Amino acid sequence: MPLEFRCQDVGVACRAVTTADSKDDLLAKVAAHARESHGVELNDTLVDYALTQVRETER
Ligand SMILES: [Zn+2]
Repeated sequence: MPLEFRCQDVGVACRAVTTADSKDDLLAKVAAHARESHGVELNDTLVDYALTQVRETER
């Protein structure tokens, strides 16, 4: 089941939607996006929070 993470879901004013086929892959992509687009390095707390907002998609 593909996974999806939206910056909007964690209160960031950003329309980016990140998708991946595994949690590890998704986290890697989200971390890269956070660094490049938001200047944020994900720490363990942010990763845990982000994981609570990950959705499974039908696509
Ligand atoms: Zn973003």
